[in-house]
Amino acid sequence: MADFDVDLFVIGGGSGGVRAARIAAGHGARVMVAEEYRMGGTCVIRGCVPKKLFVLGSHVRHEIEDAAGFGWTIPSATFDWPTLIANKDKEIARLEGIYAANVEKAGGRIVKMRAVIEDANTVRLTNGEAVRAKYILIATGGAPNHGTMIPGIEHVISSNEAFHLPELPKRIVIQGGGYIALEFACIFAGFGSDVTVIYRGDNILRGFDEDVRAHVRAEMEKDGITLLTGCTVTKVDKHGHEFTTHLSNGSSVASDKVMFAIGRHPNVANLGLEKAGVAINPANGGIAVDSFSRSSVPNIYAIGDVTHRINLTPVAIREGHAFADTVFGGRPVEVDHTDIPTAVFSQPEVGTVGLTETQARAKFSHVDIYKATFRPIKATLSGRDTRMLMKLIVDGTSDRVVGCHIVGDGAAEIIQAVAIAVKMKATKADFDATLALHPTAAEELVTMRTPTARHVRQAAE
Ligand code: FAD
Ligand code: NDP
Repeated sequence: MADFDVDLFVIGGGSGGVRAARIAAGHGARVMVAEEYRMGGTCVIRGCVPKKLFVLGSHVRHEIEDAAGFGWTIPSATFDWPTLIANKDKEIARLEGIYAANVEKAGGRIVKMRAVIEDANTVRLTNGEAVRAKYILIATGGAPNHGTMIPGIEHVISSNEAFHLPELPKRIVIQGGGYIALEFACIFAGFGSDVTVIYRGDNILRGFDEDVRAHVRAEMEKDGITLLTGCTVTKVDKHGHEFTTHLSNGSSVASDKVMFAIGRHPNVANLGLEKAGVAINPANGGIAVDSFSRSSVPNIYAIGDVTHRINLTPVAIREGHAFADTVFGGRPVEVDHTDIPTAVFSQPEVGTVGLTETQARAKFSHVDIYKATFRPIKATLSGRDTRMLMKLIVDGTSDRVVGCHIVGDGAAEIIQAVAIAVKMKATKADFDATLALHPTAAEELVTMRTPTARHVRQAAE
Protein backbone atom coordinates (compact mmCIF):
# COMPACT_ATOMS: atom_id res chain seq x y z
CA MET A 1 0.00 0.00 0.00
CA ALA A 2 3.00 2.25 -0.40
CA ASP A 3 1.17 4.20 -3.10
CA PHE A 4 -1.37 5.53 -0.64
CA ASP A 5 -0.99 7.97 2.25
CA VAL A 6 -3.95 6.35 4.02
CA ASP A 7 -6.12 3.27 3.63
CA LEU A 8 -9.30 5.23 4.34
CA PHE A 9 -10.14 8.90 3.97
CA VAL A 10 -13.45 9.82 5.60
CA ILE A 11 -15.07 13.08 4.48
CA GLY A 12 -17.27 14.24 7.35
CA GLY A 13 -16.88 13.75 11.11
CA GLY A 14 -20.55 13.16 11.94
CA SER A 15 -22.33 10.12 13.35
CA GLY A 16 -21.63 7.85 10.38
CA GLY A 17 -18.14 9.05 9.54
CA VAL A 18 -16.88 8.81 13.10
CA ARG A 19 -18.21 5.28 13.58
CA ALA A 20 -16.70 4.13 10.28
CA ALA A 21 -13.33 5.73 11.10
CA ARG A 22 -13.14 4.14 14.55
CA ILE A 23 -14.09 0.67 13.40
CA ALA A 24 -11.84 0.78 10.34
CA ALA A 25 -8.91 1.94 12.48
CA GLY A 26 -9.71 -0.89 14.88
CA HIS A 27 -9.38 -3.30 11.95
CA GLY A 28 -5.88 -1.92 11.39
CA ALA A 29 -6.57 0.62 8.63
CA ARG A 30 -4.65 3.91 8.45
CA VAL A 31 -7.50 6.43 8.70
CA MET A 32 -7.83 10.18 8.17
CA VAL A 33 -11.07 12.12 8.83
CA ALA A 34 -11.77 15.62 7.49
CA GLU A 35 -14.38 17.76 9.27
CA GLU A 36 -15.07 21.31 8.07
CA TYR A 37 -17.19 22.45 11.02
CA ARG A 38 -17.35 20.58 14.34
CA MET A 39 -16.69 16.93 15.17
CA GLY A 40 -19.90 15.07 15.99
CA GLY A 41 -21.82 16.42 13.00
CA THR A 42 -25.49 17.25 12.83
CA CYS A 43 -26.73 14.93 15.56
CA VAL A 44 -24.35 16.14 18.22
CA ILE A 45 -23.88 19.78 17.26
CA ARG A 46 -27.25 20.88 15.85
CA GLY A 47 -29.60 17.93 15.75
CA CYS A 48 -30.71 15.13 18.06
CA VAL A 49 -28.74 15.99 21.18
CA PRO A 50 -29.34 19.76 21.58
CA LYS A 51 -32.90 19.18 20.34
CA LYS A 52 -33.53 16.59 23.06
CA LEU A 53 -32.07 18.93 25.68
CA PHE A 54 -34.50 21.61 24.49
CA VAL A 55 -37.38 19.11 24.59
CA LEU A 56 -36.52 18.12 28.15
CA GLY A 57 -36.24 21.76 29.19
CA SER A 58 -39.50 22.84 27.59
CA HIS A 59 -41.37 19.88 29.06
CA VAL A 60 -40.81 21.34 32.53
CA ARG A 61 -43.73 23.71 31.91
CA HIS A 62 -46.10 20.74 31.79
CA GLU A 63 -44.52 19.28 34.93
CA ILE A 64 -45.03 22.54 36.80
CA GLU A 65 -48.62 22.87 35.62
CA ASP A 66 -49.35 19.24 36.50
CA ALA A 67 -47.86 19.56 39.97
CA ALA A 68 -50.82 21.43 41.51
CA GLY A 69 -53.15 18.42 41.32
CA PHE A 70 -50.60 16.44 43.32
CA GLY A 71 -50.62 19.05 46.08
CA TRP A 72 -47.64 21.13 45.12
CA THR A 73 -47.66 24.89 45.24
CA ILE A 74 -44.88 26.20 43.07
CA PRO A 75 -44.20 29.92 43.27
CA SER A 76 -44.47 31.49 39.84
CA ALA A 77 -41.65 29.88 37.84
CA THR A 78 -39.43 31.89 35.52
CA PHE A 79 -37.37 30.66 32.62
CA ASP A 80 -34.05 32.06 31.39
CA TRP A 81 -33.28 31.19 27.75
CA PRO A 82 -29.61 32.37 27.84
CA THR A 83 -28.92 29.96 30.74
CA LEU A 84 -30.33 27.06 28.74
CA ILE A 85 -28.30 28.01 25.66
CA ALA A 86 -25.08 28.37 27.68
CA ASN A 87 -25.56 25.03 29.46
CA LYS A 88 -26.48 23.31 26.21
CA ASP A 89 -23.42 24.77 24.46
CA LYS A 90 -21.18 23.52 27.27
CA GLU A 91 -22.56 20.00 26.96
CA ILE A 92 -22.25 20.03 23.17
CA ALA A 93 -18.62 21.17 23.43
CA ARG A 94 -17.97 18.29 25.86
CA LEU A 95 -19.48 15.77 23.46
CA GLU A 96 -17.57 17.25 20.53
CA GLY A 97 -14.35 16.65 22.46
CA ILE A 98 -15.33 13.04 23.14
CA TYR A 99 -16.07 12.40 19.46
CA ALA A 100 -12.67 13.76 18.43
CA ALA A 101 -10.87 11.88 21.21
CA ASN A 102 -12.55 8.60 20.28
CA VAL A 103 -11.33 8.82 16.69
CA GLU A 104 -7.81 9.64 17.84
CA LYS A 105 -7.80 6.92 20.52
CA ALA A 106 -8.72 4.40 17.83
CA GLY A 107 -5.68 5.57 15.84
CA GLY A 108 -7.40 7.86 13.30
CA ARG A 109 -6.11 11.34 12.40
CA ILE A 110 -8.49 14.31 12.21
CA VAL A 111 -7.98 17.28 9.89
CA LYS A 112 -10.24 20.20 10.74
CA MET A 113 -10.97 21.46 7.24
CA ARG A 114 -13.06 20.88 4.15
CA ALA A 115 -12.08 18.04 1.84
CA VAL A 116 -13.14 17.52 -1.77
CA ILE A 117 -12.55 14.66 -4.15
CA GLU A 118 -9.99 15.21 -6.89
CA ASP A 119 -10.10 11.74 -8.42
CA ALA A 120 -11.04 8.23 -7.30
CA ASN A 121 -7.98 8.00 -5.02
CA THR A 122 -7.19 11.63 -4.20
CA VAL A 123 -8.75 14.04 -1.72
CA ARG A 124 -7.79 17.74 -1.69
CA LEU A 125 -7.87 19.68 1.60
CA THR A 126 -8.52 23.44 1.81
CA ASN A 127 -4.87 24.02 2.77
CA GLY A 128 -3.96 22.66 -0.68
CA GLU A 129 -2.62 19.35 0.57
CA ALA A 130 -3.52 16.28 -1.53
CA VAL A 131 -4.04 12.98 0.27
CA ARG A 132 -3.88 9.69 -1.63
CA ALA A 133 -6.38 7.17 -0.25
CA LYS A 134 -7.06 3.55 -1.10
CA TYR A 135 -10.71 4.00 -0.11
CA ILE A 136 -12.78 7.16 0.29
CA LEU A 137 -15.90 7.29 2.46
CA ILE A 138 -18.30 10.17 1.82
CA ALA A 139 -20.19 10.94 5.03
CA THR A 140 -21.00 14.61 4.49
CA GLY A 141 -24.57 14.52 5.81
CA GLY A 142 -27.26 16.97 4.78
CA ALA A 143 -28.43 20.56 5.23
CA PRO A 144 -31.77 22.37 5.60
CA ASN A 145 -33.83 23.15 2.49
CA HIS A 146 -35.06 26.68 1.94
CA GLY A 147 -37.66 25.84 -0.69
CA THR A 148 -38.39 28.29 -3.48
CA MET A 149 -36.80 31.73 -3.18
CA ILE A 150 -39.84 33.61 -1.92
CA PRO A 151 -39.48 37.33 -1.17
CA GLY A 152 -38.04 37.79 2.32
CA ILE A 153 -36.47 34.31 2.50
CA GLU A 154 -33.34 35.98 3.95
CA HIS A 155 -35.32 36.63 7.16
CA VAL A 156 -36.15 32.95 7.63
CA ILE A 157 -34.14 30.77 10.00
CA SER A 158 -33.66 26.99 9.93
CA SER A 159 -33.10 24.56 12.79
CA ASN A 160 -29.38 25.45 12.61
CA GLU A 161 -30.03 29.00 13.82
CA ALA A 162 -32.84 27.95 16.19
CA PHE A 163 -30.18 26.42 18.45
CA HIS A 164 -28.42 29.76 18.88
CA LEU A 165 -31.15 32.40 19.15
CA PRO A 166 -30.05 35.18 21.52
CA GLU A 167 -33.52 35.31 23.04
CA LEU A 168 -36.69 33.24 23.14
CA PRO A 169 -39.13 34.57 20.52
CA LYS A 170 -42.46 35.60 22.03
CA ARG A 171 -44.17 34.57 18.78
CA ILE A 172 -42.81 32.23 16.12
CA VAL A 173 -44.14 31.00 12.77
CA ILE A 174 -42.83 27.60 11.64
CA GLN A 175 -43.43 26.24 8.16
CA GLY A 176 -43.40 22.43 7.77
CA GLY A 177 -45.32 19.46 9.11
CA GLY A 178 -42.55 16.91 9.65
CA TYR A 179 -40.15 15.96 12.43
CA ILE A 180 -38.29 19.24 12.86
CA ALA A 181 -41.25 21.60 12.50
CA LEU A 182 -43.31 19.75 15.10
CA GLU A 183 -40.47 19.18 17.53
CA PHE A 184 -39.55 22.86 17.49
CA ALA A 185 -43.19 23.98 17.59
CA CYS A 186 -43.60 22.04 20.84
CA ILE A 187 -40.24 23.19 22.18
CA PHE A 188 -41.06 26.86 21.68
CA ALA A 189 -44.63 26.40 22.96
CA GLY A 190 -43.28 24.66 26.05
CA PHE A 191 -41.02 27.60 26.82
CA GLY A 192 -43.97 29.95 26.45
CA SER A 193 -43.79 31.21 22.84
CA ASP A 194 -46.95 31.71 20.86
CA VAL A 195 -46.52 29.21 17.99
CA THR A 196 -48.16 29.01 14.55
CA VAL A 197 -47.37 26.04 12.30
CA ILE A 198 -47.98 26.41 8.56
CA TYR A 199 -48.36 23.14 6.66
CA ARG A 200 -49.11 22.72 2.96
CA GLY A 201 -51.11 19.45 3.14
CA ASP A 202 -54.30 18.35 4.91
CA ASN A 203 -52.61 17.07 8.02
CA ILE A 204 -49.15 16.99 9.59
CA LEU A 205 -46.76 14.01 9.69
CA ARG A 206 -47.48 12.66 6.21
CA GLY A 207 -46.34 9.05 5.99
CA PHE A 208 -47.15 8.27 9.63
CA ASP A 209 -50.17 6.19 10.64
CA GLU A 210 -53.40 8.17 10.12
CA ASP A 211 -54.46 7.76 13.76
CA VAL A 212 -51.08 9.09 14.90
CA ARG A 213 -51.42 12.12 12.63
CA ALA A 214 -54.89 12.97 13.92
CA HIS A 215 -53.95 12.33 17.55
CA VAL A 216 -50.79 14.47 17.53
CA ARG A 217 -52.57 17.32 15.82
CA ALA A 218 -55.42 17.29 18.34
CA GLU A 219 -53.00 17.19 21.28
CA MET A 220 -50.85 20.02 19.93
CA GLU A 221 -53.93 22.16 19.36
CA LYS A 222 -55.14 21.45 22.90
CA ASP A 223 -51.76 22.70 24.09
CA GLY A 224 -52.36 26.04 22.40
CA ILE A 225 -50.37 25.63 19.17
CA THR A 226 -52.09 27.04 16.07
CA LEU A 227 -51.88 24.66 13.09
CA LEU A 228 -52.80 26.19 9.73
CA THR A 229 -53.06 23.51 7.04
CA GLY A 230 -53.56 23.68 3.27
CA CYS A 231 -51.37 26.76 2.83
CA THR A 232 -47.76 27.81 2.30
CA VAL A 233 -45.67 30.87 3.05
CA THR A 234 -45.49 33.17 0.02
CA LYS A 235 -43.61 36.17 1.43
CA VAL A 236 -42.00 37.40 4.65
CA ASP A 237 -41.87 41.14 5.42
CA LYS A 238 -39.65 42.62 8.11
CA HIS A 239 -40.66 45.71 10.07
CA GLY A 240 -38.04 46.53 12.69
CA HIS A 241 -37.87 43.45 14.91
CA GLU A 242 -41.19 42.05 13.71
CA PHE A 243 -42.15 39.91 10.74
CA THR A 244 -45.32 39.50 8.75
CA THR A 245 -45.64 36.08 7.13
CA HIS A 246 -47.96 36.10 4.13
CA LEU A 247 -49.75 32.87 3.28
CA SER A 248 -51.06 31.40 0.04
CA ASN A 249 -54.63 31.57 1.38
CA GLY A 250 -54.39 35.37 1.53
CA SER A 251 -54.01 35.64 5.32
CA SER A 252 -50.93 36.72 7.26
CA VAL A 253 -49.38 36.09 10.68
CA ALA A 254 -47.28 38.49 12.76
CA SER A 255 -44.32 37.09 14.70
CA ASP A 256 -40.85 37.77 16.10
CA LYS A 257 -39.22 34.86 14.23
CA VAL A 258 -39.97 32.81 11.13
CA MET A 259 -38.52 29.33 10.76
CA PHE A 260 -38.72 26.83 7.91
CA ALA A 261 -38.32 23.09 8.51
CA ILE A 262 -39.27 21.79 5.09
CA GLY A 263 -36.87 18.92 4.67
CA ARG A 264 -33.13 18.55 4.18
CA HIS A 265 -30.96 17.85 1.14
CA PRO A 266 -27.84 15.67 0.94
CA ASN A 267 -24.51 17.54 0.94
CA VAL A 268 -23.31 16.56 -2.53
CA ALA A 269 -22.59 19.97 -4.07
CA ASN A 270 -19.00 21.01 -4.87
CA LEU A 271 -17.59 17.77 -3.52
CA GLY A 272 -15.85 16.79 -6.76
CA LEU A 273 -18.15 13.80 -7.28
CA GLU A 274 -18.23 14.27 -11.03
CA LYS A 275 -14.41 14.29 -11.19
CA ALA A 276 -14.31 10.78 -9.77
CA GLY A 277 -17.45 9.63 -11.57
CA VAL A 278 -19.58 9.14 -8.43
CA ALA A 279 -23.21 8.86 -9.54
CA ILE A 280 -26.18 10.57 -7.92
CA ASN A 281 -29.42 8.66 -7.29
CA PRO A 282 -31.90 10.54 -9.52
CA ALA A 283 -34.79 9.44 -7.28
CA ASN A 284 -33.63 11.34 -4.20
CA GLY A 285 -30.58 13.47 -5.07
CA GLY A 286 -28.30 11.54 -2.71
CA ILE A 287 -25.24 9.51 -3.64
CA ALA A 288 -26.32 6.28 -5.33
CA VAL A 289 -25.11 3.24 -3.38
CA ASP A 290 -25.69 -0.49 -3.27
CA SER A 291 -26.67 -2.48 -0.18
CA PHE A 292 -23.04 -2.33 1.02
CA SER A 293 -23.04 1.50 0.66
CA ARG A 294 -20.68 1.24 -2.31
CA SER A 295 -21.00 4.04 -4.88
CA SER A 296 -20.68 3.73 -8.66
CA VAL A 297 -16.90 3.99 -8.14
CA PRO A 298 -15.66 0.71 -6.59
CA ASN A 299 -13.33 2.22 -3.95
CA ILE A 300 -15.66 5.08 -2.97
CA TYR A 301 -18.46 4.46 -0.46
CA ALA A 302 -21.13 6.74 0.99
CA ILE A 303 -23.16 6.43 4.19
CA GLY A 304 -25.69 8.37 6.23
CA ASP A 305 -27.74 11.39 5.20
CA VAL A 306 -25.65 12.05 2.08
CA THR A 307 -27.25 8.93 0.59
CA HIS A 308 -30.72 10.21 1.59
CA ARG A 309 -32.01 6.73 2.42
CA ILE A 310 -33.34 6.94 5.99
CA ASN A 311 -31.99 10.05 7.66
CA LEU A 312 -31.58 8.99 11.25
CA THR A 313 -28.48 8.86 13.42
CA PRO A 314 -28.59 5.15 14.31
CA VAL A 315 -28.95 4.37 10.61
CA ALA A 316 -25.85 6.43 9.70
CA ILE A 317 -23.95 4.72 12.52
CA ARG A 318 -25.02 1.24 11.44
CA GLU A 319 -24.11 1.99 7.81
CA GLY A 320 -20.69 3.32 8.86
CA HIS A 321 -20.01 0.26 10.99
CA ALA A 322 -21.14 -2.12 8.23
CA PHE A 323 -18.91 -0.34 5.72
CA ALA A 324 -15.85 -0.67 7.96
CA ASP A 325 -16.52 -4.36 8.66
CA THR A 326 -17.11 -5.04 4.98
CA VAL A 327 -14.04 -3.27 3.61
CA PHE A 328 -11.51 -3.61 6.44
CA GLY A 329 -12.86 -6.39 8.66
CA GLY A 330 -13.17 -9.10 6.01
CA ARG A 331 -16.85 -9.53 6.92
CA PRO A 332 -19.34 -8.26 4.33
CA VAL A 333 -22.31 -6.71 6.14
CA GLU A 334 -25.45 -5.35 4.51
CA VAL A 335 -27.64 -2.99 6.53
CA ASP A 336 -31.22 -4.09 7.02
CA HIS A 337 -33.37 -0.99 6.61
CA THR A 338 -36.64 -2.64 7.62
CA ASP A 339 -38.51 -2.09 10.89
CA ILE A 340 -36.38 0.85 12.03
CA PRO A 341 -37.99 2.41 15.10
CA THR A 342 -38.35 6.17 15.06
CA ALA A 343 -39.69 8.87 17.33
CA VAL A 344 -40.93 12.39 16.81
CA PHE A 345 -40.11 14.30 19.97
CA SER A 346 -43.22 16.41 19.77
CA GLN A 347 -45.21 16.91 22.98
CA PRO A 348 -46.79 14.41 23.30
CA GLU A 349 -44.14 12.35 21.56
CA VAL A 350 -44.61 9.72 18.88
CA GLY A 351 -42.94 6.31 18.84
CA THR A 352 -43.42 4.08 15.85
CA VAL A 353 -42.03 0.91 14.30
CA GLY A 354 -43.06 -1.17 11.31
CA LEU A 355 -46.02 -0.67 9.01
CA THR A 356 -48.81 1.86 9.24
CA GLU A 357 -52.37 0.57 8.94
CA THR A 358 -52.51 1.80 5.33
CA GLN A 359 -49.25 0.04 4.42
CA ALA A 360 -50.31 -3.19 6.12
CA ARG A 361 -53.68 -3.23 4.35
CA ALA A 362 -51.92 -2.79 1.02
CA LYS A 363 -49.56 -5.66 1.80
CA PHE A 364 -51.65 -8.27 3.62
CA SER A 365 -55.05 -9.76 2.83
CA HIS A 366 -56.08 -9.93 6.51
CA VAL A 367 -55.17 -7.13 8.90
CA ASP A 368 -56.29 -6.85 12.51
CA ILE A 369 -56.11 -3.51 14.30
CA TYR A 370 -55.87 -3.20 18.07
CA LYS A 371 -56.28 0.38 19.16
CA ALA A 372 -56.74 2.08 22.51
CA THR A 373 -56.92 5.73 23.46
CA PHE A 374 -57.04 6.46 27.14
CA ARG A 375 -56.40 9.07 29.79
CA PRO A 376 -52.96 8.43 31.31
CA ILE A 377 -53.05 7.88 35.07
CA LYS A 378 -51.09 11.08 35.70
CA ALA A 379 -53.83 13.13 34.08
CA THR A 380 -56.41 11.90 36.58
CA LEU A 381 -54.88 14.09 39.30
CA SER A 382 -53.14 16.73 37.18
CA GLY A 383 -56.40 17.42 35.39
CA ARG A 384 -54.59 17.82 32.08
CA ASP A 385 -56.83 17.31 29.08
CA THR A 386 -54.70 14.71 27.29
CA ARG A 387 -55.10 11.21 25.91
CA MET A 388 -52.61 8.54 24.93
CA LEU A 389 -52.79 6.39 21.77
CA MET A 390 -51.58 2.80 21.42
CA LYS A 391 -52.04 0.89 18.20
CA LEU A 392 -50.93 -2.54 17.07
CA ILE A 393 -51.15 -3.68 13.47
CA VAL A 394 -51.31 -7.45 13.07
CA ASP A 395 -51.05 -9.59 9.93
CA GLY A 396 -54.20 -11.62 10.41
CA THR A 397 -52.80 -14.60 8.51
CA SER A 398 -49.50 -15.13 10.35
CA ASP A 399 -50.58 -13.36 13.59
CA ARG A 400 -47.33 -11.31 13.37
CA VAL A 401 -47.30 -7.83 14.87
CA VAL A 402 -46.15 -5.80 11.86
CA GLY A 403 -46.57 -2.31 13.27
CA CYS A 404 -46.81 -0.45 16.57
CA HIS A 405 -47.66 3.20 17.00
CA ILE A 406 -47.72 5.10 20.26
CA VAL A 407 -48.45 8.75 21.07
CA GLY A 408 -47.93 9.93 24.61
CA ASP A 409 -45.38 10.36 27.37
CA GLY A 410 -42.60 7.80 27.09
CA ALA A 411 -43.56 6.71 23.56
CA ALA A 412 -39.96 6.83 22.32
CA GLU A 413 -38.65 4.78 25.23
CA ILE A 414 -41.44 2.22 24.90
CA ILE A 415 -41.10 1.81 21.15
CA GLN A 416 -37.38 0.99 21.40
CA ALA A 417 -38.28 -2.16 23.36
CA VAL A 418 -41.29 -3.01 21.19
CA ALA A 419 -38.99 -2.78 18.15
CA ILE A 420 -37.04 -5.79 19.45
CA ALA A 421 -40.22 -7.86 19.49
CA VAL A 422 -41.26 -6.67 16.04
CA LYS A 423 -37.79 -7.38 14.65
CA MET A 424 -37.96 -10.87 16.16
CA LYS A 425 -41.25 -11.36 14.31
CA ALA A 426 -43.26 -11.66 17.52
CA THR A 427 -46.90 -12.63 17.09
CA LYS A 428 -49.91 -11.12 18.77
CA ALA A 429 -50.05 -14.37 20.78
CA ASP A 430 -46.51 -13.61 22.04
CA PHE A 431 -47.65 -10.16 23.14
CA ASP A 432 -50.69 -11.71 24.86
CA ALA A 433 -48.53 -14.31 26.61
CA THR A 434 -46.48 -11.51 28.16
CA LEU A 435 -47.75 -10.43 31.55
CA ALA A 436 -48.70 -6.80 32.00
CA LEU A 437 -46.62 -4.52 34.19
CA HIS A 438 -49.04 -2.50 36.24
CA PRO A 439 -49.68 0.40 36.45
CA THR A 440 -48.02 1.60 33.26
CA ALA A 441 -49.24 2.94 29.97
CA ALA A 442 -47.23 0.29 28.10
CA GLU A 443 -49.23 -2.54 29.67
CA GLU A 444 -51.94 -1.63 27.17
CA LEU A 445 -49.76 -3.28 24.51
CA VAL A 446 -50.23 -6.71 26.07
CA THR A 447 -53.81 -6.34 27.26
CA MET A 448 -55.64 -5.35 24.07
CA ARG A 449 -57.56 -8.61 23.52
CA THR A 450 -60.19 -7.81 20.91
CA PRO A 451 -59.45 -6.24 17.54
CA THR A 452 -61.02 -2.81 17.11
CA ALA A 453 -61.12 -3.44 13.36
CA ARG A 454 -60.54 -6.41 11.08
CA HIS A 455 -59.82 -5.85 7.39
CA VAL A 456 -60.19 -8.73 4.96
CA ARG A 457 -59.37 -8.09 1.33
CA GLN A 458 -61.71 -9.91 -1.04
CA ALA A 459 -59.83 -12.06 -3.55
CA ALA A 460 -60.07 -10.59 -7.07
CA GLU A 461 -62.49 -12.56 -9.26
P1 FAD B 1 -23.79 14.44 9.72
O1 FAD B 1 -23.98 14.10 11.15
O2 FAD B 1 -24.58 15.57 9.17
O3 FAD B 1 -22.23 14.67 9.51
C1 FAD B 1 -21.72 15.18 8.31
C2 FAD B 1 -20.49 16.00 8.64
O4 FAD B 1 -19.77 16.25 7.44
C3 FAD B 1 -20.82 17.38 9.21
O5 FAD B 1 -20.16 17.54 10.43
C4 FAD B 1 -20.31 18.36 8.16
O6 FAD B 1 -19.78 19.54 8.74
C5 FAD B 1 -19.21 17.55 7.50
N1 FAD B 1 -18.90 17.92 6.12
C6 FAD B 1 -19.76 18.11 5.09
N2 FAD B 1 -19.08 18.32 3.94
C7 FAD B 1 -17.75 18.26 4.25
C8 FAD B 1 -16.56 18.36 3.49
N3 FAD B 1 -16.60 18.56 2.17
N4 FAD B 1 -15.38 18.27 4.13
C9 FAD B 1 -15.33 18.06 5.48
N5 FAD B 1 -16.41 17.93 6.24
C10 FAD B 1 -17.62 18.01 5.64
N6 FAD B 1 -31.90 11.64 14.04
C11 FAD B 1 -32.29 10.76 15.00
O7 FAD B 1 -32.05 9.56 14.84
N7 FAD B 1 -32.93 11.20 16.13
C12 FAD B 1 -33.20 12.51 16.35
O8 FAD B 1 -33.77 12.85 17.38
C13 FAD B 1 -32.81 13.44 15.37
N8 FAD B 1 -33.04 14.76 15.55
C14 FAD B 1 -32.62 15.65 14.61
C15 FAD B 1 -32.87 17.00 14.82
C16 FAD B 1 -32.50 17.92 13.89
C17 FAD B 1 -32.79 19.38 14.13
C18 FAD B 1 -31.82 17.50 12.71
C19 FAD B 1 -31.38 18.51 11.69
C20 FAD B 1 -31.56 16.16 12.48
C21 FAD B 1 -31.96 15.22 13.43
N9 FAD B 1 -31.74 13.86 13.25
C22 FAD B 1 -32.15 12.97 14.20
C23 FAD B 1 -31.06 13.35 12.04
C24 FAD B 1 -29.58 13.07 12.32
O9 FAD B 1 -28.99 14.21 12.88
C25 FAD B 1 -28.85 12.68 11.04
O10 FAD B 1 -29.54 11.62 10.42
C26 FAD B 1 -27.41 12.26 11.31
O11 FAD B 1 -26.69 13.28 11.97
C27 FAD B 1 -26.71 11.90 9.99
O12 FAD B 1 -25.37 11.58 10.24
P2 FAD B 1 -24.28 11.67 9.06
O13 FAD B 1 -23.03 11.10 9.62
O14 FAD B 1 -24.84 11.09 7.83
O15 FAD B 1 -24.11 13.21 8.77
P1 NDP C 1 -39.43 16.09 6.98
O1 NDP C 1 -39.24 15.42 5.68
O2 NDP C 1 -39.70 15.28 8.18
O3 NDP C 1 -40.63 17.13 6.85
C1 NDP C 1 -40.60 18.13 5.88
C2 NDP C 1 -41.91 18.87 5.94
O4 NDP C 1 -41.86 20.02 5.10
C3 NDP C 1 -43.08 18.02 5.45
O5 NDP C 1 -44.20 18.35 6.23
C4 NDP C 1 -43.23 18.49 4.01
O6 NDP C 1 -44.54 18.37 3.52
C5 NDP C 1 -42.89 19.96 4.13
N1 NDP C 1 -42.36 20.53 2.89
C6 NDP C 1 -41.45 19.99 2.07
N2 NDP C 1 -41.18 20.83 1.04
C7 NDP C 1 -41.96 21.92 1.24
C8 NDP C 1 -42.12 23.14 0.52
N3 NDP C 1 -41.44 23.38 -0.59
N4 NDP C 1 -43.01 24.04 1.00
C9 NDP C 1 -43.71 23.78 2.12
N5 NDP C 1 -43.58 22.66 2.85
C10 NDP C 1 -42.72 21.74 2.42
O7 NDP C 1 -38.16 17.01 7.14
P2 NDP C 1 -37.57 17.81 8.39
O8 NDP C 1 -36.92 19.00 7.82
O9 NDP C 1 -38.60 17.98 9.45
O10 NDP C 1 -36.46 16.80 8.94
C11 NDP C 1 -35.51 16.22 8.04
C12 NDP C 1 -35.19 14.81 8.43
O11 NDP C 1 -34.34 14.81 9.57
C13 NDP C 1 -36.37 13.96 8.86
O12 NDP C 1 -37.08 13.44 7.77
C14 NDP C 1 -35.71 12.89 9.67
O13 NDP C 1 -35.19 11.90 8.82
C15 NDP C 1 -34.58 13.65 10.34
N6 NDP C 1 -35.00 14.05 11.69
C16 NDP C 1 -35.27 13.08 12.60
C17 NDP C 1 -35.71 13.41 13.86
C18 NDP C 1 -36.01 12.34 14.84
O14 NDP C 1 -35.57 11.21 14.65
N7 NDP C 1 -36.73 12.63 15.92
C19 NDP C 1 -35.89 14.80 14.27
C20 NDP C 1 -35.55 15.74 13.23
C21 NDP C 1 -35.14 15.36 11.99
P3 NDP C 1 -45.09 17.03 2.85
O15 NDP C 1 -45.26 16.05 3.95
O16 NDP C 1 -46.38 17.49 2.25
O17 NDP C 1 -44.08 16.61 1.84
